[in-house]
Amino acid sequence: VSLAERVVPENRTIEVLDHGFVRLDDSMASDLSVVNAARVSFARRKEEMDDADRGLVRFLLRDRHGTPFEHNAFRFHVRAPIFVAREWFRHRVGSFNEFSMRYARATDDFYVPEADDVRTQVGKPGSYSFDPVEPEVAETTREELRAVYETAYAAYERLVELGVARELARSVMPVGAYTEFYWTVNARSLMNFVSLRAAETAQREIRRYAEACERFLAEEMPVTYQAFVDAGRVAP
Ligand SMILES: Cc1cc2nc3c(=O)[nH]c(=O)nc-3n(C[C@H](O)[C@H](O)[C@H](O)COP(=O)(O)OP(=O)(O)OC[C@H]3O[C@@H](n4cnc5c(N)ncnc54)[C@H](O)[C@@H]3O)c2cc1C
Repeated sequence: VSLAERVVPENRTIEVLDHGFVRLDDSMASDLSVVNAARVSFARRKEEMDDADRGLVRFLLRDRHGTPFEHNAFRFHVRAPIFVAREWFRHRVGSFNEFSMRYARATDDFYVPEADDVRTQVGKPGSYSFDPVEPEVAETTREELRAVYETAYAAYERLVELGVARELARSVMPVGAYTEFYWTVNARSLMNFVSLRAAETAQREIRRYAEACERFLAEEMPVTYQAFVDAGRVAP
């Protein structure tokens, strides 16, 4: 994430992929909370950060004293394809609530990658690299996806129309369908997420979401964020 990209929009919503977003719904986060959590060991408390505090944050991060980074919270509202959400929900340290296709009608928004994002994989499991495809292959991919989405959604609507319960009718929905969820997480766990999911080894789609989350981390806790980057993007 470059310096320019660290600036987040005023509405705290970063658009991701064709129909998705990451919105920071609310937060209780500051670098000062890290410092005060650490200094409580010595019964000390600060109202403002100084250079010594910045040094302390860097020390805590580098030496992996992780708990002072847990006294804060980021509440994100996310709209992402189901396959991205599945990867995301593997991150157990944090809280999720998701849109229910049992109770509400499924969305008809589906992920169709930009032509540039259609790729081929080369190499072996664990060390794939992803290369661009010919323009015709990219267009065929996009058309195939659209065709499947249209057929699937038409079947879903027919089943619901026939009175089939939504919880069952949703079985026809592809993992490219969009879902929504809230995710509340502390900075330590968020750094772990960013470390793993904004990395080159992560799938391109979740990577875009992780990069959006990273921008909010940088905005809310700039000293912590810089220390994280300087420590090689390893969460404490
Ligand atoms: C590139 C990539 C490829 C992946 N491929 C696969 C795959 O093929 N199959 C698959 O199943 N998953 C896969 N995953 C998911 C991965 O195994 C993790 O489930 C996911 O990244 C969450 O990471 P985490 O456990 O560190 O995060 P969290 O669950 O948020 O946990 C945060 C930290 O808390 C600690 N912790 C949490 N729970 C426990 C526990 N039970 N015991 C001990 N410590 C704990 C650990 O220190 C952990 O790092 C992949 C992830 C990535 C990034």
